[in-house]
Amino acid sequence: MLNKKYESLGKKSSVIRELFEFANKRKKEIGEENVYDFSLGNPSVAPPKIVDETIKNLLNTSCSVALHGYTSAAGDYEVRQKIAEYISKQSGKESSADLIYITCGAAASLTISLSAVTCENDEVIVLAPFFPEYKVFIENCGAKTVVCKPNLNDFTIDFNNLENCFTSNTAAVIINSPNNPSGVVYSNEEIECLANLLYKMQIKFNKQIYLITDEPYRELVFDNISVPYPSCYYNNTITCYSFSKSLSLPGERIGYIEVSQDAQNAKDIFAAICGAGRSLGFVCAPSLMQKTVANCLGKTSDISVYERNRNYLYKALTEIGYNVVLPNGAFYLMLKCLTNNALQFAEKAKDFELIIVPSDDFGVDGFVRIALCVSEKTVKNSIPAFKKLYDYYRS
Ligand code: PLP
Repeated sequence: MLNKKYESLGKKSSVIRELFEFANKRKKEIGEENVYDFSLGNPSVAPPKIVDETIKNLLNTSCSVALHGYTSAAGDYEVRQKIAEYISKQSGKESSADLIYITCGAAASLTISLSAVTCENDEVIVLAPFFPEYKVFIENCGAKTVVCKPNLNDFTIDFNNLENCFTSNTAAVIINSPNNPSGVVYSNEEIECLANLLYKMQIKFNKQIYLITDEPYRELVFDNISVPYPSCYYNNTITCYSFSKSLSLPGERIGYIEVSQDAQNAKDIFAAICGAGRSLGFVCAPSLMQKTVANCLGKTSDISVYERNRNYLYKALTEIGYNVVLPNGAFYLMLKCLTNNALQFAEKAKDFELIIVPSDDFGVDGFVRIALCVSEKTVKNSIPAFKKLYDYYRS
């Protein structure tokens, strides 16, 4: 008999994927240049040259049996050492190769970490707006998703709401900064407040509560701002990183988990990560990619296009009259709908060939997400369509 849970999950595609498929269909019908597809978070710039150079070099100079062979389950130790050295240098806090597990991207990092720290009926708090797959990952562990609503004017953390989300069943909190879909980057002060609240809740409920920090957009920030390292503020932190966005390598499936060295029972947490990775079949991440990213730490693709797109769209949309929350990072922008029903608004936008994502699945009502990872031409050409959409609702 089929597993009904997975069967229904497999039959239900995400709203984002549906919109993306719709956009592709429209492009075939009316020409690519006439569709303004802002649906998907697929990097629009090429990986930096160093990625291809490293791959060629590895292919030319390594023993191919070793290069394409299994690494240890948690990843090649030398690669993990390089990652640990890099994190230590960047964060100023010692990181250890023995607590790094190389994964197939952030999705695998998250599913492994959640499986490692939750038991049946535990609760995991997610801060809205959030990446919709969190719910799938959490519920697959038999845990429950608890959604914390943000301050809606700027999508920062509403700490009153957050405190009320904790119960004796809380196992973990997931944060994502820079954030998909809002582009918000939590400040040092917010991360410090969050850490203090977590310490307080650990005492109140007399248990360990984990902070899972999902960081595929860490390097994608605007105006040269810096992203705090949550592990410098809170000891029980598990970092889920991915090279999908920073190096434009989403199809290569490579990332890592780092357990903070000063987490309580860090070695046991890491053992649970290894066990979860093993039971989920996420062992020995692609060997060629492990060695490639080890040589590209700190490098990024040319992410300046995302900042130019943000600047252009923010200015043009606010000039039209839209209310837009200025993103500080990632490559998304949230626009307030001109009706309370975001699904209806996104549906209407299709009439003007604008493909934008309603915010309902991100855990907030009344917004649409616009992905900035498109060509500058698409951004510029889309403005008249946004104007027509505005006029439709305002007239
Ligand atoms: N987390 C967030 C916030 C994302 O936006 C994404 C992908 O878009 C992921 C995780 C999954 O990343 P990966 O492709 O590295 O698995």
